[in-house]
Amino acid sequence: MNEVLVVGSVAIDSVETPSGKADDALGGAATFGSVAASLFAPVHLVGVVGSDFPAEHIEFLRGRNIDLAGLQVVEGGDTFRWKGDYNTDLNQAVTHETHLGVFEHFEPVLPDHYRDANYVFLANINPTLQLKVLEQVRAPKLVVCDTMNLWINIAREHVIEVFKRVDIAVLNDGEAKMLTDLDNVIQAGRAIKALGPKHVIIKKGEHGALMFSDHEIFSAPSFPLDEVIDPTGAGDSFAGSMIGYLSKTDDLSAENLRKAVVYGSVVASTTVQDFSLKALKQLTPETVEERYAAVKAMSAF
Ligand code: AMP
Repeated sequence: MNEVLVVGSVAIDSVETPSGKADDALGGAATFGSVAASLFAPVHLVGVVGSDFPAEHIEFLRGRNIDLAGLQVVEGGDTFRWKGDYNTDLNQAVTHETHLGVFEHFEPVLPDHYRDANYVFLANINPTLQLKVLEQVRAPKLVVCDTMNLWINIAREHVIEVFKRVDIAVLNDGEAKMLTDLDNVIQAGRAIKALGPKHVIIKKGEHGALMFSDHEIFSAPSFPLDEVIDPTGAGDSFAGSMIGYLSKTDDLSAENLRKAVVYGSVVASTTVQDFSLKALKQLTPETVEERYAAVKAMSAF
């Protein structure tokens, strides 16, 4: 069985959306990514939390077949906290506060049994830390990375450095335009592909996703929802489930990559149906299959 190595933030989030708010809830890019990937494959998590991180969250992650040997717990330290809202645009978070806490001095060190991981997901985190993890894995078959507007703004060169070294780069449309200074999403996708990744996936919220490969563009549908409660973690759930599915099937053919993108969009569509990880926690491999079949039926012609 191929494990998925996931690095990224493990966080306590406070989020407000037009549907309500959640304070001090479990969040973080690596958390959403790991839980989504664990629907398909065992996960090795790399991250850091403080001693204030609730024990119930640790127990939950362990119960999901997520190996926490690479999760450092800093005695007396504060867990990373993010506060934001989606009141003006459900596709774009407005950050109110980012409290780095234990992330400020975090040096990722991979336990030896993590270094042979074949599937690696560099979830949202400072790109310098993403590179440090990449340097420690021996010969991965597939590396997927995600980023966010903050890093494009303050560490663009490092984001580009990461993109040059990965197989699949995942961004949302706003980030793709920001990174390339291009207004057209197709031009932006091609420009990012030219940086080095074999595939670039641009997520377009409720409008699905586009995957740019060497000779083709795949337009993936999304699952139509009549209500989005909280978009937090949609991107991480998308990439986590996509790489989880690829790891489980160990098949990187163009056809299987397309399926993986649709699994990503299916799991992300569930995450946004409740705050924090509430809806994602309820998903089972069976309910994922049901929604996957529904998307397939809806988009076949
Ligand atoms: P997403 O909605 O998929 O883009 O990711 C949401 C998650 O990103 C939240 O749970 C936050 O804790 C986390 N997050 C927000 N800002 C940062 C940051 N600067 N670095 C790492 N993770 C972050």
